[in-house]
Amino acid sequence: MSLQVLSVASECFPLIKTGGLADVVAALPNALRAHGIETRTLLPAYRQVMARAEQVEPLLRLPDLFGADGQLLAAKNVDGADLLLIDAPHLFDRPGGPYLDVSGLDWPDNAQRFAALSIVAARLGRGLLSGFQPEVVHAHDWQAGLVPAYLALFGGRRPATVMTVHNLAFQGQFPARLLDELHLPSSALVPEGVEYYGQIGFLKAGLNYADRITTVSPSYAREIRTPEGGMGLDGLLNARAMRLSGIVNGIDMEVWNPETDPLLAKNYGVGNLADRAANKAALCERLDLDQDDSPLFCVITRLTWQKGVDLILETAPYLLEAGGQLALLGAGDVQLEGAYARLAEQYPGRVACVFGYNEEFAHLLEAGADAILIPSRFEPCGLTQLYALRYGCVPVVSRVGGLADTVIDANDAAQAAGVATGVQFFPVTAEALQDAIYRTIGLYRQPDLWANMQRNGMSSDLGWPKRAEVYAAMFRSLAREGRVAQ
Ligand code: ADP
Repeated sequence: MSLQVLSVASECFPLIKTGGLADVVAALPNALRAHGIETRTLLPAYRQVMARAEQVEPLLRLPDLFGADGQLLAAKNVDGADLLLIDAPHLFDRPGGPYLDVSGLDWPDNAQRFAALSIVAARLGRGLLSGFQPEVVHAHDWQAGLVPAYLALFGGRRPATVMTVHNLAFQGQFPARLLDELHLPSSALVPEGVEYYGQIGFLKAGLNYADRITTVSPSYAREIRTPEGGMGLDGLLNARAMRLSGIVNGIDMEVWNPETDPLLAKNYGVGNLADRAANKAALCERLDLDQDDSPLFCVITRLTWQKGVDLILETAPYLLEAGGQLALLGAGDVQLEGAYARLAEQYPGRVACVFGYNEEFAHLLEAGADAILIPSRFEPCGLTQLYALRYGCVPVVSRVGGLADTVIDANDAAQAAGVATGVQFFPVTAEALQDAIYRTIGLYRQPDLWANMQRNGMSSDLGWPKRAEVYAAMFRSLAREGRVAQ
């Protein structure tokens, strides 16, 4: 029997994306369909979403949505997936990104914008739309954190709730004086409610009220229960440990398929790995990098402290001295951009940088570079290493979170068993990264061994079906339990 789920998120690929969250929100519903789970995804109708969503139709009026009326729209994603959009121009129709204005500052009304998303989700959970009665509401990250809170606090029968943490670093904290305006009762401003260090914590609220908490890898599920990884929420997460689990993300095996990817210079697969070389040549040409037999390391990332990109800068002279090349695609911190631009100027032909967000170019990089550097200080799951595995680009990763769970280090045992897919290092320091780079170059210089690692990665099970099965089982068991507000 089919089961209806409402997924609530602030991003969905390709309509609006700032990171891995968008990819997961788009791909999971498609994978759940095979398990008889029908998902509708509720998103804000940002300008970018309205520009690309298909078959948009008005459904009903949403009166008094933080300052003006809005309306609920039905729509389809470009892949045909069902969407519900909150059309509220006073909240969402603006230039800039989903969270930041054009100058990079938080939108001053983010509390209201994402409370609107959550309150509409809660109403949908209670049957606002005839013919759609979700048995599970799946809330993603702090922007949807108030969904479990509203559902629990409104009283009466409610669907079950799942809160998925894609990154605990983003928590959505807002002044307590907004309590009333956000339609939260004053009784909820307590540590057992939405209160978080004197403020309203959107993610905290979600973690507190959800029936289940998931995060995007088992290692990250463990790390966030420690003081080092818990970002202030480890106490709560420990108290709710029985409700917390980690499920590794999958990737869209169609969008990311080196055998058919139209964004590559030449398609290739496990059977004709040699054809991959044409992509390296195209990449080097496009980036003005010397074309020789140097191992080419790439980086595809948001430029932030989390991703350890400062460690790559520190290690770059050693990487270059050891005969490597470096190609970076990154957007974010202006100072880091400046430092990378200087590095590229200093080493023409050996280092190249492309700044900005460029989905297309990310494909060619994964297909052309020999290895990818991912020295994250923490990494809930990470998608770039999964795309890299699929494309035969060997991941060099810090042993944290989802990176630890998805890459098999080429240690002696793994090599003897022929199962290595990459290189891991720990602790997350410039010295350990430098060691890992030397180790990687050593492996690269043994072509048979290297090709074997590439093939192992390319044949790994990276798709959604296995992961979706775990979500489906959880949704079904929650639906069976039935809910009445606490
Ligand atoms: P996070 O969500 O923390 O940024 P993930 O590895 O989970 O990290 O997901 C990052 C996603 O964003 C991947 O799909 C990656 O290819 C993409 N990405 C990151 N930076 C860029 C960029 N500058 N240009 C294009 N794609 C990028």
